[in-house]
Amino acid sequence: MMITRLFWSAFTAFHLRGQADLPYKSLSRIERDRDRRVRQMVAYAYRYVPFYRKTMNRLGLRPSDFRGADDLEKLPLVDREQVQYHFKDFLSRSKFVYRFLEVSSGGSTGAPVKVRHDIRSLFLNAAHGERDRAPYLSLLGKNGGYRQTLLSPGNFGTAHKIQMFCRKHALYPKGKRINRQYLSLLDPPEENLQKINAFQPDIICSYGSYLEMLFNYIEKTGKFLHRPKAVVYGGDGMSHNNRQLIETKHRIPVFSTYGAVEALKIGFECNRHIGLHVNIDLYPLRIIDDQGEALPDGHIGHVVVSNLINRGTVLLNYRLGDRAAYLSTKCPCGCSLPLLSFPDGRMDDIIKLKGGRMRHPQAVRTIFTEEQEVQQYQVVQQTHTSFIIKIVTKKEGKHPALKNRITRKFVKSFGDDITVDISIVNALERTPMGKIRPVISMIDNA
Ligand SMILES: [Zn+2]
Repeated sequence: MMITRLFWSAFTAFHLRGQADLPYKSLSRIERDRDRRVRQMVAYAYRYVPFYRKTMNRLGLRPSDFRGADDLEKLPLVDREQVQYHFKDFLSRSKFVYRFLEVSSGGSTGAPVKVRHDIRSLFLNAAHGERDRAPYLSLLGKNGGYRQTLLSPGNFGTAHKIQMFCRKHALYPKGKRINRQYLSLLDPPEENLQKINAFQPDIICSYGSYLEMLFNYIEKTGKFLHRPKAVVYGGDGMSHNNRQLIETKHRIPVFSTYGAVEALKIGFECNRHIGLHVNIDLYPLRIIDDQGEALPDGHIGHVVVSNLINRGTVLLNYRLGDRAAYLSTKCPCGCSLPLLSFPDGRMDDIIKLKGGRMRHPQAVRTIFTEEQEVQQYQVVQQTHTSFIIKIVTKKEGKHPALKNRITRKFVKSFGDDITVDISIVNALERTPMGKIRPVISMIDNA
């Protein structure tokens, strides 16, 4: 075990070198790295991943037909439902993928998906994180030894799981170690605010929607918050108004990162705050319309990403379910990586319980994350104590055990006075944008 930990520590240290500077190298150098990784990953997928093997054979394609990122569109678009139903087809059969971590998406699209990350890719990701940390760490004047509060969905959070996994398999030098406070965003804001004030973090990280909830709570109650040097959000979006509230009124710079369970480090925000710089050498990304045609800069469309890092579940040309546009602006920060607009925030509502208590919608999503029978779900909060739940299951049936389990979890999370009405349906209603809103509250915000 010790040798393994030393190996992965050295591996990470090796790959960390130059990561903070890489975004400022020339675009052609970055594209060269990208195209090399495309060739390696397509060859890997063809050799070890049943879906790509079968698909490429069917289309008469060979790895040598892929010279760079532009060739990735020769592969069919893959979407979330496919990966949900055919999980095994996207897994690598390589015998080198024996240590891995499986994580499920938070289900913010109403359709949780499970993805396997191999150990090598997780340590590469740890190294690539240096890119998105660089802008806000420059505000601290130090690279290690700072205090960070991480508000995540507890043991269910992807970031938390990955950190625990990496800590178990590697050694971290003491001086560089970050002093982390782990809090659960399933807990109410009043509780977390107290803990944050006691810890006095330099950085607070969470979902955009949770930070919105926290700062709105502070705004409403006038309670004191220890002012961090920056807040960082990922996981979902933050509205323009709430961002302004944090940046202008509280004078705290806001940074966002863009990633998903299927592609961990897609992009990051620099200190000019115009948009997100896309790590195109790791996760080449394109924007397409409903017909699958590429859209020019400035046009909002579906985000399609290829993960050139993960060799557990291999996903190329994958439709993530977000909408965004490439910006034609060149960022004055000097970074060569192209800019993407902030993706449409996901649209879940806050759960409001009796006595004005609030719960983040992740408290609902978490209930479904580990439910393998569920393909999609939608929860509508009717009153402070009643919920209507619609579920699309993977297999037909009445699913009494599933219904019981979900009812129990709701009561455990939201209180004994809660009633839930669960029905199994064939399909859920979509918004005009084609999205499913998984958590809706009918209770007025006022
Ligand atoms: Zn920039």
